[in-house]
Amino acid sequence: MTNTGKIGVTTENIFPVIKQFLYSDHEIFLRELVANAVDADQKMKALAASGEFAGELGDLKVKIDLDEAAGTLKITDNGIGMTEEEVDKYINQIAFSSAGEFLEKYKDNIGAIIGHFGLGFYSAFMVAKTVTIDTLSWKDGAKAVRWTCDGNPEFQMSESDKAERGTTITLLIADDEKEYATKSRIQTLLNKYCKFMPVPVVFGKQQEWKDGKYVDKEEDNVINTVEPIWTKAPADLKDEDYDKFYQALYPMADEPLFHIHLNVDYPFNLTGVLYFPKIKDKLEVQKNKIQLYCNQMFVTDSVENIVPDFLTLLHGVIDSPDIPLNVSRSYLQSDANVKKISGYITKKVADRLDEIFRNEREALENKWDNLKLFIEYGMLSDEKFCDRAMKFCLLKNTDGKYFSLEDYRKGIEGEQTDKDSKVVYLYATDTEAQYSFIEAAKAKGYDVLLLDCQLDSHFVNLLENKIENSRFARVDSDTIEKLIPKTEQIKPELSEDAKKELDEAVKAVLPEGNDYMIEAENLGATAAPIVITQSEFMRRYREMSALGGGMNFYGELPQAYNIVVNMENPLVVKIVEGKYEDKEMLRQIADLALLSNGMLKGKALAEFIARSAKVVEDAYLK
Ligand code: ADP
Repeated sequence: MTNTGKIGVTTENIFPVIKQFLYSDHEIFLRELVANAVDADQKMKALAASGEFAGELGDLKVKIDLDEAAGTLKITDNGIGMTEEEVDKYINQIAFSSAGEFLEKYKDNIGAIIGHFGLGFYSAFMVAKTVTIDTLSWKDGAKAVRWTCDGNPEFQMSESDKAERGTTITLLIADDEKEYATKSRIQTLLNKYCKFMPVPVVFGKQQEWKDGKYVDKEEDNVINTVEPIWTKAPADLKDEDYDKFYQALYPMADEPLFHIHLNVDYPFNLTGVLYFPKIKDKLEVQKNKIQLYCNQMFVTDSVENIVPDFLTLLHGVIDSPDIPLNVSRSYLQSDANVKKISGYITKKVADRLDEIFRNEREALENKWDNLKLFIEYGMLSDEKFCDRAMKFCLLKNTDGKYFSLEDYRKGIEGEQTDKDSKVVYLYATDTEAQYSFIEAAKAKGYDVLLLDCQLDSHFVNLLENKIENSRFARVDSDTIEKLIPKTEQIKPELSEDAKKELDEAVKAVLPEGNDYMIEAENLGATAAPIVITQSEFMRRYREMSALGGGMNFYGELPQAYNIVVNMENPLVVKIVEGKYEDKEMLRQIADLALLSNGMLKGKALAEFIARSAKVVEDAYLK
């Protein structure tokens, strides 16, 4: 029997489409062919399990044979095979029925065409000039069939000499695709796409080093793990198993912080294991470490639009047959299943963190600094996650202690409520630079948080919105009395002239290039003569605009500082009495204030040191 025919109706159109438009993705042909082979094996297993097939099942596997010299690649399974009728139905007809109509309609959207047809078997033509199928069906009395096609729509069908049940697909690799006839390339592709397929995939023999070269051993070289961790029940796994799997996925990475085992079969099917990676440095944040699988077949490692943006920081594996594979990325976002899946994953992540918060509080605290960026990012970008996270989110103070939001509020409520009944959360962003302010706050019995993360200026805004009756203030944003004002403050009464005089005298001793607001205050005789602060509002918006908060106007402003002059400090009293004649002393106390803010630099600093030395000398030797 030799049979020739044409594939489908309008295949003249489809072959060029396959070759041309899928250029960047040629390599997926191997995944598609191995997946078909795995399917065929699994169907065989199912037939045996149901009793429909009572013969010898054998070791179900998929074998890859490469002949570099001949330029051929074979994929062989011992699955169900196909009868002549089935080849005709599945290979010749099904794939391209109504192709013409469809092609016309979607000619601008090649992704949809591929999605519609499920490129599957025909992707072989992206890399092969001739494709041959030799197949023997499991059915009693079936005859082996050979189908050959050289890339134009003509195919030949004839008898095959195949003696074992199953299918062999033979590709004669095209001249411009020769990389797919090299061992290293095939090895790489198998490792990328087939590492966790559910049937053993054999590529050559295991090798050993003998007499100065590698030689084949007896044993097959199985390239995959057929039962990866995410297919098992969490109850059967130990922490080490999760760690080992992580190591296998990312050999170079640090140990993960925590893992989450995903497992749902209704209303969609999804399994997987996700890991919180150790985020050491804000800038080395690595997205796209999650690998997406479909029934243990690798699909992609770019999961944007499938999981919410902040979860792309996680690592691990998601496996779901319910995520449409061959559709455009923008379409994915609107897919109802994908939306549900994304919501489910977010919920699971929040559940897991909540569980860790309740049961492993110490571990959470120990790992918080590495976890914090992830959680803050999640809270800022996902409202539902944020509402959940308000329960398990921790705050760290400048003494290195951790608190839940609820506990922290209870702790500071008593001391840190201002005259308007707002609870004031004091924070520092740099314990060195803001040291004197932190100490002043502590001396008052206040607590100071440490918010030194990249996202914290946004995060502070978020918390202020979420926590009722709260206000956040950086410790150096005002004098300690005014950070948490307890009563209406009485300002010193100064005439317009006196104000002007003070303003001019003080500005004259400050560095140029900044904006200064000179304010007279009564802070008591023992408080510093001059305190320099930066308004919380201005500073926060400047920082947010620097981070790309979209408020660029503030980013371009010169630095603005409040210069608070303590009119009750004896030095100030004396300078004012002397009508600001003593410029040296005024400069000295201004420099002291600059110094405690880390703002005294270069020449000004050298002059300050020389002047201070002289003051000490004079006082001591007088
Ligand atoms: P899909 O796998 O998406 O159905 P394919 O074009 O890859 O599309 O394959 C079409 C059909 O051909 C399959 O559904 C299957 O019935 C049959 N087929 C392909 N490869 C094999 C194989 N190795 N063994 C048995 N049947 C196969």
